[in-house]
Parts: sequence; C-alpha cells; structure tokens
Amino acid sequence: MPYIGCHLSCAKGFYHMGLTASQIHADTFQFFTRNPRGGKSKPLDLEDCAKLRELMKEQHFGPIIAHAPYTINPCSQSESVREFAVQTMAEDLHRMEYLPGNFYNFHPGSHVGQGAAYAIPVIADALNQVMFPQQTTVVLLETMAGKGSEIGATFSQLQEILEKVCLNDKIGVCIDTCHIHDGGYDIIQDFDGVLTQFDKEIGLKRLKAIHLNDSRNPRGSHKDRHACLGDGYLGWETVRRIICHPQIAGLPVVLETPNELDGYAREIMALRQILSGSGNCRITIHIGQSNKKG
Ligand code: ZN
Ligand code: FE
Ligand code: FE
Repeated sequence: MPYIGCHLSCAKGFYHMGLTASQIHADTFQFFTRNPRGGKSKPLDLEDCAKLRELMKEQHFGPIIAHAPYTINPCSQSESVREFAVQTMAEDLHRMEYLPGNFYNFHPGSHVGQGAAYAIPVIADALNQVMFPQQTTVVLLETMAGKGSEIGATFSQLQEILEKVCLNDKIGVCIDTCHIHDGGYDIIQDFDGVLTQFDKEIGLKRLKAIHLNDSRNPRGSHKDRHACLGDGYLGWETVRRIICHPQIAGLPVVLETPNELDGYAREIMALRQILSGSGNCRITIHIGQSNKKG
C-alpha cells in the first residue's frame, strides 16, 4: 500500500500541514521549502518541527517531501544563478535535519542552450557541494517533461547525474506521472514496461516517490500542464494501474493536481477506494485554477 497525500501550503507552519493532511486522510504530503519563486525561507520554528514529527509518528505517516523552489537552476550558465541554487539547496538540506529521514525533491535544471553534456556534470557537482555524510535526508531528482531545455526528461540523463553523485546512498528519483507522459514514456499502454526500462537504466531501488498527476496534453508534448485525476490524457484506468502497482507499495504518492483542499480530499478518497478494491472511477472532480505546483 502506498502512502497518499498532496502538495500543501506551508504558510501556517509544519504542524499545521500535518493536521491538514490527516484531516483529508493523507498520510504523507509535500511542501515548498520556501516561496517557489526563490527568496528567503522563514526562520525555523523548532517546536513546530517537533510537533510535526510527533504527529507523523502517532498517525503512521510515510516520509514527506520537501520540494525545492522550482526556479533554482543548478546548471545555469550564470555563475550567480548557480551559486544561488547551491546556497538554497545547502540551506534547505540542513534545515531538513530537523525533520529527519524525509525527502528533498528538486528539478535538475535547464541547460538553456549549453547542452546536456555541459549541464549534467554541473548538476552533479552542485549536489556534491551541498550533500553531507551525516544527512538523513534522501535527495530526489524529479523526472521532467522536457519543456524548453529541461534536463531530466529521460531516465538515461537522470542516471548520468546519479552516477556522478558521491554520497550515492542518499540520492534517488521521484517519478512525476504528468512529466514522464509529457516526456514521451507510454504509461497509458505500458506502465509496467516503463518501470522495466527505469529498472534497466536507473534501477528500481532508486525509485523513492511518485508525483501523481494527470496531464492536459498528449504523450510526448513536453508541455508540463497538470490535470486533475481522470480529467486528462492518463485517465482513471492509468491512475488505477499506477497506484495499485506492487512496485509503488510503500512509496509516498503525492498529488500536484490543480486543486484546492476539497478537491485534494476527493482525489485522496477516490485513490483510497481504488486501493481498497471498491474503486468508483467515475467520480466527478471539477478542474480548479491552474496553480503551479511543480
Ligand atoms: Zn509539473
Ligand atoms: Fe512534480
Ligand atoms: Fe516538481
């Protein structure tokens, strides 16, 4: 059985996110470590961290996912942009130790014309600068849609980064279902085959989390526009096959669908019904605003 949750706002602190998650029957969640457009993080409230740790233990939460701001670009051609990415990631990783044993997910970056051959070692170098032997956080590279010059739309590119990371047992991959579909992987007809390919190129032991999103665009579109479950090209049958796949059991599955909290609650309920074998896939969920959630 996977853990199921959604992206939540961290505006009211860590414990509040935990409470919100449990109210909508989630047992994991994701949050941005700071304003997604970059900028400063709030000073850490240690008591707030302790309260969330306690709640997660009591309610048997799975690991949660801290998402780096999606605007950082560790492989930018600008030195100051690269430095900002390194600084942000280093600070985030140290803060994560107050919520030990969870995940830190980031977008590998965009090479902006310099080519993947330039970008891949630069991304690995950034990781080697910020990761430290004592960290309990596992860093996740997110699979990307391949919009513009994004790195990480193919398993082979992710593997090229992974193999250059020194602290190799502290790094893994988060599959975003909208992104890999937009990137060209056929998860509608052959999710099993896509996982087999992942296993060959990266190794399934690296698969640590799922972003479960439907896509507004056909396979290979490289657009990265998330849709609510069942409202896009993937549809409920694909969602069902993903969520029920034995390889996903035990992983946190996080929704980044264009929803407010009530919509997330309905999607989580629908997923739990599918998992308990009483799935009614014809549940209607209205499309909300297209708010960007990575
Ligand atoms: Zn996305
Ligand atoms: Fe995502
Ligand atoms: Fe993301």
